[in-house]
Amino acid sequence: MDTTCTHCHTPDPTGSTLCVHCTTRLTGQLQQLPRMYEALAGHLSPGSGSGQGRSSKGGPAPLPLRVDVLDLRGEFEAVSGWLSAVHDARHLRAPRLAGDALTRLHTAVTGLLAHMPWIVIWPYAHDLATEIGDLHRSAATIVDPDPRPRGRRIGHCQSIDTSGTICGAVLRLAPGETVVRCDWCSMAWPPATWVQLRAWQAENASAA
Ligand SMILES: [Zn+2]
Ligand SMILES: [Zn+2]
Repeated sequence: MDTTCTHCHTPDPTGSTLCVHCTTRLTGQLQQLPRMYEALAGHLSPGSGSGQGRSSKGGPAPLPLRVDVLDLRGEFEAVSGWLSAVHDARHLRAPRLAGDALTRLHTAVTGLLAHMPWIVIWPYAHDLATEIGDLHRSAATIVDPDPRPRGRRIGHCQSIDTSGTICGAVLRLAPGETVVRCDWCSMAWPPATWVQLRAWQAENASAA
């Protein structure tokens, strides 16, 4: 039976909900969340960081804090929510999530990472990966603004369709991502494939 990853839809022979690459990316994103949460604190006042404060022209007095950053920090509570959901699904006692927001975040991340071997076969793993991916991306746009928002060019896509035609679309590594994804044919190129990708690109460039 052919199985595909429910998150990136690439074939996954293991039959898990998440393929190895999506699992690796999710793990990496989770590990970066506490650092990002802390870094966001430095962007809370208007005019700090690269963001724009609110204009006070014709409106109420400028807000003392950037509400978008404040809201985004609040969204990190979702990580704790996911750990509670995992505990619930596994019929475990509710996780002990105490302390300040950063401490709870550390606890939630550690817990989710510990449950990862089970999460990859959980039907809700795709939703978890989507939400963590969105959170990571939102935080990255504030704490790690990429000067090249369209991402780094990684040459041309070398996936071959059923008729034997090479895709050839320009590949870009999106900010905050570790897997290159082709916008045209949706082929995923995780880092482990880049050496081969480069070899194929060179081969096809010299053949052209
Ligand atoms: Zn996947
Ligand atoms: Zn492609």
